[in-house]
Amino acid sequence: MRDLSHDRTLLSINSMTVKAWSLGQLIEGCARAGISAISPWRDIVQACGPERAGKLIRAHGMTVTGLCRGGMFPATDEAGRRAALDDNRRAVDEAAAIGAQCLVLVVGALPKGSRDLNGARMQVREALHALLPYARQARVPLAIEPLHPMYAADRACVNTLAQANDLCDELGEGAGVAVDTYHVWWDPDLKREIARAGEKILAYHVNDWLLPTNDLLLDRGMMGDGVIDLRAIRAMVEAAGYRGHCEVEILSANNWWKRDPDEVVRICIERHQTVV
Ligand code: ZN
Repeated sequence: MRDLSHDRTLLSINSMTVKAWSLGQLIEGCARAGISAISPWRDIVQACGPERAGKLIRAHGMTVTGLCRGGMFPATDEAGRRAALDDNRRAVDEAAAIGAQCLVLVVGALPKGSRDLNGARMQVREALHALLPYARQARVPLAIEPLHPMYAADRACVNTLAQANDLCDELGEGAGVAVDTYHVWWDPDLKREIARAGEKILAYHVNDWLLPTNDLLLDRGMMGDGVIDLRAIRAMVEAAGYRGHCEVEILSANNWWKRDPDEVVRICIERHQTVV
C-alpha cells in the first residue's frame, strides 16, 4: 500500500470547512497553502456563477473532488418531486461547468408531515433512476452519500453504505458512493461494504466524531480530535482501490467556523499528515 500521508497533493478542502470563504478565497487560500484540490458547495459556485467559477478553477489548476450537493429528492407531491429533479439537473450542469469529479448527493428524507420512511426511500430510488441518464450524458458521476441514521428524518434516508451499494448495483454505470467517515464509522459492516463499493468509491470525506457531540449537524470534529480510527478506514478505502483525495469536510459552527480560515487549512494539512 502506498503511504500517501505526507502527500499534500491528495488533500482536498471542502468549502464547508472554511465557510467564511467565497469560491475565489477558497481557491486562493488553498493555492497559498500548497493544496490543489477543493470541493465547493453549490452556494459559493452559484454566487460566482458556474461558468466563471469553472474558468477560475481551471486558471488555478485546481482539481474539484466533488460538488456538494444535489439530492433532497422526496417531496409531498408530484410538483415537489419534479422541482427537486429540475434542481438536480441544474446541479449536474454546475458540476459539469466546474469539472467536478462527481456530484455528491444527500438524497433527502421524510417529506414534511410524513412518517413513511420506506416511501421516502422508494422516492429516492425513483429519482435516482430519473436523474441518472442526464448525469451520464453530462459525464458527471453521481456519488450517493449515506448519512448517519440520526439524519433519516430530515436529510437522508440512505443511512448505510450497504444501502448505497444496493442502489449502485441497481443503477449501474454513472452511480457511485461518497464515503464520509463521520457518517459510516460506526457501521459493523463497514469493511465489507467498502470492499464491495470498490471502484465505485467516488469521494472520501474525512473529519472526526467528537465526544460529546453537542449539535447533530454543526459540531463535527477536526481529524484527530475525536474517536474515529481514521487510519483504519483509510486503509479500507485504499484496499478497495481508491486512489483519490482525502476531502476534509467539517461543519463546526462553534469552533472551526470561528477561526481564521488560513489557520484551519494549516491544521487540516498537519492532521492529514499525522492522523488521516
Ligand atoms: Zn460528506
